[in-house]
Parts: sequence; C-alpha cells; structure tokens
Amino acid sequence: MNFSSKLLENAVEEFGRLPGIGKKTALRLVLHLLKQPDGEVQRFVQSLTTLKEQIQYCRECYNISDEAVCEICQSVKRDKTTICVVEDTRDVMAIENTNQYQGVYHVLGGLISPMEGVGPSDLKIEGLLERIRRGDVKEVILALSATMEGDTTIFYLYRKLKEFDIQITTIARGIAFGGELEYVDEITLGRSILTRVPYERNVG
Ligand SMILES: [Zn+2]
Repeated sequence: MNFSSKLLENAVEEFGRLPGIGKKTALRLVLHLLKQPDGEVQRFVQSLTTLKEQIQYCRECYNISDEAVCEICQSVKRDKTTICVVEDTRDVMAIENTNQYQGVYHVLGGLISPMEGVGPSDLKIEGLLERIRRGDVKEVILALSATMEGDTTIFYLYRKLKEFDIQITTIARGIAFGGELEYVDEITLGRSILTRVPYERNVG
C-alpha cells in the first residue's frame, strides 16, 4: 500500500495489528475516524485509555471488572456453591445471556496449549483450587470449548479437582462443536448448562 501520508500509514498500521483486521479494513476505519468531529475521536481514544488504566480482574473469579470484586461475585442472589469454569470473559457473557445459570464463575484466562506454549501455570488454576479449599463449593462445572485445548484443560483440571469432595460436571460437549461457547446460540447453551452431566460419565 502506498500512503500519501506517514501519519495515515502509522494509524493504519496500528489498526492492522488488531485481530481479524486486514490492511484494507484498517484503512477504511482510519479514514472513517478522520471524517468524524474532533470530540468523537477523543471520546473513542479516551474510552480505550480509561479501559486500559482502570480495568480490574475480580480477585475471586478473575472476570473483567470495574471493581476489586465483580458484580456477579458480589451478588447475594448468586449460588456460591457452584462454580462454572470458563476460558475467558466472553464465555461469562454468553452464559449470562442464557439467564439459566445462578452460580458463580471462574475465568481461567486461556486454555492449556503446548503448541502455543501455554501451560497450567499460565492460567488461574491455583486461584480455583484456593476457592475450593475454602470449603463452600459443592459443584464445579467445566464449561470449556470442545477443542483439543479445551479437552486437555478439562482433563488436567479433573485430575486436580477429583481430590476434593465436590461434584465435577461438564456441559454437553457436542454443542460447542469445534468452536467456542460464544458462538453457540443462547437456547442451546442454556439447555446444556441445565442438563450438565458428571464428567466421568461424559468420558465413558
Ligand atoms: Zn468475580
């Protein structure tokens, strides 16, 4: 791409670094922003700066939060004896959208992936075990995607969790075929949470 301006090129390059944004889309977005009133662009930049500066991770469940403890963990309406383990905050949002789940969450922050050099110590697994050691937890639902990384992570967690006197369940794995929870429709995802099964039965 030949740019008539170095400033333009720099901005396009930054946008092009975002996942799923090619050079052409980056250029379209930058030109769009350029046409907007000053205040509009400032608000855009400010929202990202504030997000990056002020965002926190809930000290209980590691979900993205505006406060030290997230709204879900703070809520007295939520059942603290059931923890749903998910990969990231998008899964929390997907499950919350189903309105079928009253427990709390634990956000791992990724999945075990030897290919990408992600090991168990890179994930918030110790934090999960710590919550269980406190003794109130009765059930852990492993709601991870039906991918090789998801399976590896579930198996690793199962071996850690079976030491505890808790129920370990999974959501119906078939539904998240080859993909992530966020792509499953709400009704299917909601149903699969309600009809979760003990992990042992799932692996046969
Ligand atoms: Zn939380």
